[in-house]
Amino acid sequence: MGWKPRLWAGWRPNGVGEQKPNHYRDMARVAWANRAHPAYAYRVLTKGACDGCSLGVAGLHDWTIDGVHLCTTRLDLLELNTADAIDPLVLSDLAPLRSRTGGQLRALGRLGHPMRRRRGEAGFRRVSWDEALSVLAAGLRATTPARTALYLTSRGITNETYYVAAKASRALGVANIDSAARVCHAPSTVGLRQTIGVAATTCSLQDVIEAPLVVLWGSNPANNQPVFMKYLYLARKRGCRVVVVNPFLEPGLDRYWVPSNVESALFGTKMCDLHVPVRPGGDVALANAALQRLIARVAVDRTFVDAHTEGFDEMATALSGQDTDHLLALAGVDRPTLESFVDELARAGGAIHVWSMGITQHRGAADTVRGIVNLALAQGAVGRDGVGLMPIRGHSGVQGGAEMGAYATALPGGLPVDAEHAAGLAATWGFPVPDRPGLTAPEMVEAAGRGDIDVLWMSGGNFLDVLPDPRSVEAALGRVPLRVHQDVVVTRQMLVEGDDVVLLPVATRYEQEGGGTETTTERRIVFSPEIPRQVGEARSEWRLFADVANRVRPELRAAFSWPDNAHLRREIAEVVPLYAGIETLADTGDAVQWGGRHLAEDGVFPTASGRGRFTSLEPAEPQVPDGSFVVSTRRGKQFNSMVHGQVDPLTGAGRDAVFMDAADASALGVASGDRVRLRSDTGSLEGTVTLARLPARTLQVHWPEGNVLIAGGPDRREPQSKVPDYNAVVTVEPLEGAEPG
Ligand code: SF4
Repeated sequence: MGWKPRLWAGWRPNGVGEQKPNHYRDMARVAWANRAHPAYAYRVLTKGACDGCSLGVAGLHDWTIDGVHLCTTRLDLLELNTADAIDPLVLSDLAPLRSRTGGQLRALGRLGHPMRRRRGEAGFRRVSWDEALSVLAAGLRATTPARTALYLTSRGITNETYYVAAKASRALGVANIDSAARVCHAPSTVGLRQTIGVAATTCSLQDVIEAPLVVLWGSNPANNQPVFMKYLYLARKRGCRVVVVNPFLEPGLDRYWVPSNVESALFGTKMCDLHVPVRPGGDVALANAALQRLIARVAVDRTFVDAHTEGFDEMATALSGQDTDHLLALAGVDRPTLESFVDELARAGGAIHVWSMGITQHRGAADTVRGIVNLALAQGAVGRDGVGLMPIRGHSGVQGGAEMGAYATALPGGLPVDAEHAAGLAATWGFPVPDRPGLTAPEMVEAAGRGDIDVLWMSGGNFLDVLPDPRSVEAALGRVPLRVHQDVVVTRQMLVEGDDVVLLPVATRYEQEGGGTETTTERRIVFSPEIPRQVGEARSEWRLFADVANRVRPELRAAFSWPDNAHLRREIAEVVPLYAGIETLADTGDAVQWGGRHLAEDGVFPTASGRGRFTSLEPAEPQVPDGSFVVSTRRGKQFNSMVHGQVDPLTGAGRDAVFMDAADASALGVASGDRVRLRSDTGSLEGTVTLARLPARTLQVHWPEGNVLIAGGPDRREPQSKVPDYNAVVTVEPLEGAEPG
């Protein structure tokens, strides 16, 4: 396909002088950072499945596009895979480490040896694997399952590890197992399962390239799934239109330079045709208003609605009682913009709706997902080429973690936790399985704070950075009598003093014995082969979870004894029929996509009635006192909570930036670069004013730094999925002599 100058971002070669990432300089920096083991780094890049985001790539090629698939997120993560083990003495005195950032702790190197610290000791001392595992096994035996909690993050963890952890947890009677999918897309799981019967992306990445319209709701793939921008570039060359629904038009979604494409690398690509500047939490109102207008303009696909859905008439009746102007006021969107949005939807006749944390990390998140589903169903935008619902995942392990049952509210296969499904699984596994949902990640920490948890066993993760209100998280962690952290690097939560804290060094996904699989955001189960390397005494996690289960329940040894993990994959295929084919994967590039290219193919939904369900939704009224602002959390140069740069190359903003609209800044008497203090009921945060076009009385600060402003607790979560609401009401106080206006 020829070049398309009308899509160019500008005429300056490579966007010189523009605020944008310099991918080529970043690559040179990463090559230097990995100079100690260049051959190993090369093998990881050319043989392994990326341990970054959820798009998925094996080696340097994916299943969607010709040419190279690589981004700086993957390169930034490479250092974790090539670092050498830390000298254990570095951890013998924690005082000098306490002030270090997460990045500085990671720079120490790989965790190489089991270590232990008792209350009152200055730091960790090296112990044997046998001592470390004996402590954990004794702790598990000494308490009850209800006072035990297990959490796994998605830090490169494979499906094999998730599966064994999920099985080991249930073998110990522990229902309290959760993973990073909780604070990420749990509301998507709830909203999608109730409406379309399946909690996964309904289309494939190929559909993005073939889409007439992509609507990005509260997501920033330019930052979080960079190669998605290459798919979008290819789509735009074919005529795809792009709508960005977000309070802030992220610069990377406005214009992007795709480094591996000569045209885009040279002249950039305009990515956004329409920006809909919705207020935080205003998405349900916007979706309702858009659907009202689609109905009024007879732009609904009645044939699809009549043949394949239910609840449309009730929903439409409820919608007709809602005043459009009021909906627009709640959404913070003007009528011309709404009409432009509806024009785009109607002209395209369906879209790929992509959403992420800007949608899910709100108290009303599951309703917002239902609102997006309403729009898609009304246009028959499910189950065919070029359309679909895509809750895009940020991690390579999130989808698989939940589907392997490392989840408080689902058994393997995403099955509900109830008596019927627990009994079925018990018959398969040969031991009783808890038949009630367990504590979710935020509930685990709250239980710990009440003194209700005796053993907290974590694979990766960093509750101190990830959950709201870090002060109360730290206090809660300190109350747990036995904490076990298994990880590849040192994290800040490991430094929190407890009665007994044990560190277990584990292998990366690439070092893992027998390799392993991940499940991408398009439901593709992807194999990553073992790329052998031994760092200190690190062990493969699937072996580790099995070892602990065997120590605590030796009578179940047969259930936790696989000669290799190819046998384990065979078991996964039997226990989770969705994953049939996983047992055939053995080499780089091997993959199987569960559900095929489209879910709900031809409008047949996996619901009890076989139909997709509309939902009548009442938008929430915002509660923002006069003089206050709503602050939302945003991402910069980082991967999850791992900050990779103090300045975001896409925005030019530092980590302490307080994004603020010029009108609000003027009313406060502050200007770009001025210092301000934000105060919420939970805490305060100082930062630097960074002007950005935002809805009135809304602010953005970086996550996880902004977590000090965010309240935890049951009232501050989405009620069904339990995902925390990462937004807060704050006041803003100018500092350093700035004059209020
Ligand atoms: S876009 Fe995602 S999957 Fe692809 S290389 Fe980057 S981090 Fe890895």
